[in-house]
Amino acid sequence: MEPIKKKAPRQGQQLPPLPVTAAKIGERLASEVFLEEGQKLLPQLQEFRRDMHQHPEIGLELPRTQKKVLEALKGLPLEIQVGQDLSSVVAVLRGGKRGPRPVSVLLRADMDALPVREQTGDPFASTNGLMHACGHDLHTAGLIGAVKLLCAQKEHLLGDVTFMFQPGEEGPGGALPMIEEGVLDAAGRRPIAAYGLHVGPQDRGTFHHISGPMMASSSNLKITVYGKGGHGSRPHDAIDPVAALGEIQMALQVALTRRFDANEPIVITVTNLRAGDGAINVIPDHAMLGATVRVLRDEKIEQVRQMVVEVASSVAASHRCTAKVDFEVLYSATKTNPRENQFAAALWGGMFGAENVIPMETPMMASEDFGDVLAQVPGTFMWFGTVNPDTPEHLREWNHSPLVRFDDSVLGDQAAALAAVAFERLAAEDAHPSPATRVMRSAVEGLE
Ligand SMILES: [Zn+2]
Ligand SMILES: [Zn+2]
Repeated sequence: MEPIKKKAPRQGQQLPPLPVTAAKIGERLASEVFLEEGQKLLPQLQEFRRDMHQHPEIGLELPRTQKKVLEALKGLPLEIQVGQDLSSVVAVLRGGKRGPRPVSVLLRADMDALPVREQTGDPFASTNGLMHACGHDLHTAGLIGAVKLLCAQKEHLLGDVTFMFQPGEEGPGGALPMIEEGVLDAAGRRPIAAYGLHVGPQDRGTFHHISGPMMASSSNLKITVYGKGGHGSRPHDAIDPVAALGEIQMALQVALTRRFDANEPIVITVTNLRAGDGAINVIPDHAMLGATVRVLRDEKIEQVRQMVVEVASSVAASHRCTAKVDFEVLYSATKTNPRENQFAAALWGGMFGAENVIPMETPMMASEDFGDVLAQVPGTFMWFGTVNPDTPEHLREWNHSPLVRFDDSVLGDQAAALAAVAFERLAAEDAHPSPATRVMRSAVEGLE
């Protein structure tokens, strides 16, 4: 009998841990240089961020934001492309020590806001009914800082860096269209690693990370139940879809706990219920439920969908109704690569103090479309705290609140962290090349 062939492990999963090489720029540690230079950039990054905060744009079309990013990158030694179908910006920096077959890393920031009416009362608060309530204005400003820091050290850089400025994270998704438009190949070949940060209400200057599944997939669920309308006093003559829908709503929660291991994180939250046209004495002929579904492991999504179909159709049938289920997967789960996560955690622990780089106890059930990049390139994504540590827990507004405030005094450090992880990752690959990099290099040597 033929032995069962195992699929080759994905690169990065079985490689030994990657040590931080403590790269130097001249006589000094590169990370120290970035920290110091990052602080010098702080006033201009805050100015950029506050202007962006005051003029939020949502979705895939961010014309003003894109223009401001392009202005900020003007004059720097970059190859710049703008998106065809969305207001993205991709900039590539070619390192001075890149060699004939260079490797590259990718740094990402999202740039879009939310349809939230700001209530912070800050002097730079938005007034157009939209708000940077998820802090993507800080992501953009921080990445511009990293571009500037790395451009200043271009001659010392052991490879290329792709900077990904992405719209549409809050919907309908900008990472995937950017991948389709070639962001992962912008530097010539796939990056060896990709990194991003997300600001949040954790203590200012702290990093929060986890290996493997970090954020959940997100799906939209819509269940429509069809019956037969009639007089509210004569339900026996009608087929009541409202009663069926009410039961389906509760049955989904019970079925979840019976079908899945209690350790399998899954959330179904019903957020919309619609039935009737306002007449209280009329049984409508259909009723609708909308829910957001969060599943931590992508391989479980199909089982959840199957369960929803079974529950909805069988409960509807028991009421002589029929049910139609629409289940649309919006974002897949965000998974960090353990090796890259550990590398960034070790580097940032060295730069900012090990006590400020904190393992998360559990993943989060929120979603993030950087997962689309991390599905193709090993990398990591961490939370970065922006709230004064003296603020009590109950006064910390979370992302998406109309009252949330992110302290932009972190921008110098944020820029330094991103610049350093790109710089150090290229240095680490040079010192400890992966098998793939070794093969590529020996191919070049063979040609010489
Ligand atoms: Zn958000
Ligand atoms: Zn966000």
